Amino acid sequence: VTSPIDESHLCDLQMANADDVEVAVQAAYKAFKSWKVELPSVRARYLYKLADLIDQHRETIAKIESLDNGKSLFCSRFDVNLVVNYIRSCAGFCDKCDGRTINTGANYLNFTKREPLGVCGQIIPWNFPIMMFAWKIGPALATGNCVVLKPASATPLSALYVCKLVQEAGIPAGVINVIPGSGRGCGNAILKHPLVKKVAFTGSTEIGKQVMIDAADSVKKVTLELGGKSPNIVFDDCNLERTVQNLITGIFFNGGEVCCAGSRIYIQDTVYDKVLEAFKEAISKLKIGNPFEEGVFQGAQTTPDQFQTVLDYIKIGKESGAKVLTGGERIGDKGYFVQPTVLYDCSPDMRIVEDQIFGPVAAGPMFSSIDDLIEKANNSIYGLAAGIHTEDLNKAFIVADRLEAGSVWINTYNDLHENVPFGGYKESGIGREMGQEAFDNYTQVKAVRVKLNTPSI
Ligand code: NAD
Ligand code: MN
Repeated sequence: VTSPIDESHLCDLQMANADDVEVAVQAAYKAFKSWKVELPSVRARYLYKLADLIDQHRETIAKIESLDNGKSLFCSRFDVNLVVNYIRSCAGFCDKCDGRTINTGANYLNFTKREPLGVCGQIIPWNFPIMMFAWKIGPALATGNCVVLKPASATPLSALYVCKLVQEAGIPAGVINVIPGSGRGCGNAILKHPLVKKVAFTGSTEIGKQVMIDAADSVKKVTLELGGKSPNIVFDDCNLERTVQNLITGIFFNGGEVCCAGSRIYIQDTVYDKVLEAFKEAISKLKIGNPFEEGVFQGAQTTPDQFQTVLDYIKIGKESGAKVLTGGERIGDKGYFVQPTVLYDCSPDMRIVEDQIFGPVAAGPMFSSIDDLIEKANNSIYGLAAGIHTEDLNKAFIVADRLEAGSVWINTYNDLHENVPFGGYKESGIGREMGQEAFDNYTQVKAVRVKLNTPSI
């Protein structure tokens, strides 16, 4: 395990292979027999206890995350806070996972039960390691499932640390199995295991498609959180100061390694220059550098590959004729630091406008009317999120309605909340995480229909 901050060696870990996956799946399968019949209130107590322990260890976990992932401590603290809130929210759902009764006339009783699926395979990425851990195990455990989870090989440490807390919380052995390993050697064996009944994957759209293919063999239930290239839209009647802050949060929070990053910034032509100027000014005040330094907003990119990809895209952008508003270079010569970069005067068919870059690089095209905007904004294989900035809420709702996106933020951005569902339209994914909707991904409905006889007395 290496640190993206200075490329130093942090520690060595065992890489799980297919044999280890077998052990983990068998452990989960065995644990499922008793976990699924545990009283819901008891499962809730375990999850509350785990949330309390993460809460007590929040600073340690945030530091591990910054060390392994490279994100600023500011970002890591945000993540751990959402982790604690979300696991508590899941704990509260344990004893509310009810079915319904259905009226088909007096001669029948119909009711449904929401039952767990069994062993869930969960494969997560390196951009939000501990947050993705929580989004995956929370709803799975709350509804009575057991999990085998593979963290990304670039960022395995925070999930492993939290495993210690899982034990301390007394969660029975086998309910949560975390096995670090590669996608090919370990992830693949999870996807192909016949005892795994459900797969939840977060990562690239490309691998997401492969996940569906591999899961098809044993018809596993699949949820996917994939890539995005989300439009962040600025109308001329916006509050400029607030909007600029939301543009920054949209593309530079977490170094732009955010699936829902507002990476296509559409600015109304009447205020194009004015908004870019204010944006540039605000970016110049951002502190980028060592994640542990006070006041640092943007840390290092997480992997050497991703770092190179981001620099390559900046080059592609320049070569295709986009202009550089600010940034465009790496910072220093050690660690994976990239200047916050905005490219403007972009045409819709440029690769920097179409492709997910997954770094601190925004492309800024302009629009002239709502029809023009909708045409451009929806012209993407992705549909994860969108942002709208205007003081005219009537206009905001009209535009929100026409956008193809799973999350629409109005006068805010990247504004995740544990009670609000998150997930993608189009090739950005299948299913929703967080909110009530997340529990649908981890339950199956049993419908019981009882024929009633007319009593003889
Ligand atoms: P990836 O999709 O390759 O990896 C995500 C997870 O899947 C990791 O745990 C990885 O080990 C695992 N994996 C990879 N191949 C697998 C396979 N064949 N079978 C089973 N599991 C497999 O993502 P990446 O290579 O880390 O990043 C590449 C690009 O993906 C990034 O540049 C970015 O565009 C995108 N990405 C998106 C998100 C997101 O939140 N949606 C997160 C990370 C990366
Ligand atoms: Mn790392």
